[in-house]
Amino acid sequence: MHTETQLVQIGKNRGRITGAVSCPVYHSTAYEHPALGESTGFDYTRTANPTRQVVEQAIAELEGGEAGFACSSGMAAIQTIMGLFSKGDHLIVSLDLYGGTYRLFEEVLTRYGITFSYVDLRDLEAIEEAATPYTCGIFVESPTNPLMRVTDIRAVCERARDRGWLSIIDNTFMTPYLQRPLELGADIVIHSATKYLGGHNDVLAGLIVTKGKDLSEKVFALHNSIGAVLGPQDCWLLMRGIKTLALRMEKHQENAMALTQFLLTHPAVEEVFYPTLHSEERRIQEEQAGGYGGMLSFRVKDPVFVPEILRSLRLISFAESLGGVESLVTYPATQTHAEIPEEIRRKVGVCDKLLRLSVGIEHMDDLIGDLSQAFDRAQASIEGEGVKRDELRNSSLTQRK
Ligand SMILES: *Cc1c(COP(=O)(O)O)cnc(C)c1O
Repeated sequence: MHTETQLVQIGKNRGRITGAVSCPVYHSTAYEHPALGESTGFDYTRTANPTRQVVEQAIAELEGGEAGFACSSGMAAIQTIMGLFSKGDHLIVSLDLYGGTYRLFEEVLTRYGITFSYVDLRDLEAIEEAATPYTCGIFVESPTNPLMRVTDIRAVCERARDRGWLSIIDNTFMTPYLQRPLELGADIVIHSATKYLGGHNDVLAGLIVTKGKDLSEKVFALHNSIGAVLGPQDCWLLMRGIKTLALRMEKHQENAMALTQFLLTHPAVEEVFYPTLHSEERRIQEEQAGGYGGMLSFRVKDPVFVPEILRSLRLISFAESLGGVESLVTYPATQTHAEIPEEIRRKVGVCDKLLRLSVGIEHMDDLIGDLSQAFDRAQASIEGEGVKRDELRNSSLTQRK
């Protein structure tokens, strides 16, 4: 079956008694036992819920894994996975990383004695240099957030496997429609399903997919023990979002490519970041993924443009998230990446001239039109300020005379 078909059919015929086409929402937290020692397969909703199970099986199939787990957020999914590690363990992590993940690692998990090294994973030798006798896991984002750097997932996972490390991929930006890390050798995939999988900026959710029976059993126990599970109503919202993933991803990508071209030629823009723009990274991306996605970043020539552009945009919202049908612009330095110390941020390239766009599914001409008018207004306002400053200086000179 093609992925598009698989996506649309999620949850159908689950209401076998009624023939419901849309999956029923089971709010029940408790499930009656037929007899002593017997179960319908459902006992208590934290352990298993019929609506949640549909979305969990769907993501496991889409990613090609053994089991899926729905969590209350992307961060809850990451925290649940981190339960696999113990005091003294060390992990190697993508240098250019979602700020909330960095905060969880550095502000919470280091207190439990787990340590992390942040490495540019495009450099395979750097992985060897960062490894210690206590390393037992590697956590990868590709393409990275916000600089869209592409990691060779297959090569990184192969190294991890050779050394007996667990490889974990945050597949939020690509989704299983474009990239399936388990097929490239990863052990675990996590998602902030709040983003493309949900797709409508209206549900907070996280997903985990595991490879193999042993690992799946361990994560099942952690999911149930920690309890950061997704509620049934949110499971249904997420399921509804996932059904249109294929159509949305195609449109997000088409628009992102058009905006990339527009930004590359605009005089106010210094640099654009999109996986097609660096030849080696493009080659890797094309080998491991079915496309480039709907996220892009760009650096403007002067930081004074930033507040003016953000003030002038009318269609594109200045808001902190990504992956929804509505286009959003983010200023990583003070929003998504504020938790990362300035020194590291600068080293990575998340500077005060960088803006990130989550390109929605609006008509591309309207998106280009909005950016274009915002750049023009920013330019005019900055020139206006300059004139005002000159006028002020001249008038004070006149007064002094
Ligand atoms: C948003 C995001 C997360 C965190 O997910 P939440 O659903 O907000 O908890 C993790 N990783 C990436 C890449 C993200 O974009």
